[in-house]
Amino acid sequence: MRIFPCLSLIAALVFVAVMPAGAQNQGPLDAARSAARLAQFEPVRSTIAGDANQTRIHLGISESVPYRAFLLDAPPRLVVDFQEVDFADAKPEAFLGAGAITALRWGPFRTGWSRMVAELSGPVRIERAVMQTSGAPALDISLVPVPEEEFAPHPGSAESALWDLPQPARVAQPINRQDGTRNVVVALDPGHGGRDPGAEAGPTTEAIVVLTFARELKERLSRAGIEIVMTREDNRFVSLEDRLTRARSAGADLFISLHADALENSTQTGAAVYVFDPDATRSATQKLTERHGRGDLLSGVDMIGQGDDVAVALMQMARRETAPRSLAFAQNLGNAISRAGLTLYKPDVQFADFSVLKAADIPSVLIELGFLSSDGDRKRLLDPRWRARMAEAVTGAVETWARADAAQAPLLRQ
Ligand SMILES: [Zn+2]
Repeated sequence: MRIFPCLSLIAALVFVAVMPAGAQNQGPLDAARSAARLAQFEPVRSTIAGDANQTRIHLGISESVPYRAFLLDAPPRLVVDFQEVDFADAKPEAFLGAGAITALRWGPFRTGWSRMVAELSGPVRIERAVMQTSGAPALDISLVPVPEEEFAPHPGSAESALWDLPQPARVAQPINRQDGTRNVVVALDPGHGGRDPGAEAGPTTEAIVVLTFARELKERLSRAGIEIVMTREDNRFVSLEDRLTRARSAGADLFISLHADALENSTQTGAAVYVFDPDATRSATQKLTERHGRGDLLSGVDMIGQGDDVAVALMQMARRETAPRSLAFAQNLGNAISRAGLTLYKPDVQFADFSVLKAADIPSVLIELGFLSSDGDRKRLLDPRWRARMAEAVTGAVETWARADAAQAPLLRQ
């Protein structure tokens, strides 16, 4: 039987929740207050300098914020989007007169986002874009002129590139860590869907198999008093950013992505549990990573692209807290699966660079329930009794993890 590999995810915007420096030492109220305060543009610390060979933009901001910078064509423009910076009544005209910038405007762009647009006298390249995070926060951008044929504007209109950005108003609040005083919220993420069927083996598609399992698992977890948010309820395509936004909006304490992929020319069987590792290059996981991670390369709105130092720093900070929690759940899950007598393809937790696991602020794991490319696994995945045992094992692991994780919460707050 021919096995078709699953399509890569189309877009993989990775968005970081705002987590101000020092947030880990604050109470939840303080953290929420800092998140609500807008960063201020500081005109006295800002300059635009340069000549025919270079343009240097230095924008003083009261605190560092996630941003992105890109070029548009017709006419050539530099666009910088900030996660809400208050420009107050600073006059852009006051900064004109040097380098390649012929006109400048700024202001609120859409909810939660501010935009600066600089019209340029000709094609340029962004030579450098760095957010200074320590000392006096500022965004430094330098532009150098390039020949027409080397000009690389962002494809499409700026609006369409931004259209799918999660609304910061809904996602910016730091997630309130579960401490045993409220119900645990779990996001179940059945992989693929709609125009992306995932792996295929004859009439069986990964998208349907994992959706069926997710619905059953939701029932089982709900009976155990766990609140569930599904990233998709039916067989439709949901973008990666929408999946993460749904999980965040629901305040998910745990994100569980469900897959059942195929490996071509392989006899491998069994389940495997993955957590995110940005440096994962292990060849065993390489093929699967290609399928689940390539979306990043296709996305024009990658927050962790080169130059987005702040986004990277914020994600690293958030991940320092969530990575051990993800790993703890993954270990519980692996143990629960083997205790239930279900086959594990790899007994240890696996590390992979899957885009869907990049939500730095939510502990996240990906379960490969089995291989659609294996006759035995496929039979098991289609067997309700096998799925019930797997759902039972996952539920047990969530309960064990949630108790241990809640016990950790007060220790970290001290
Ligand atoms: Zn998959």
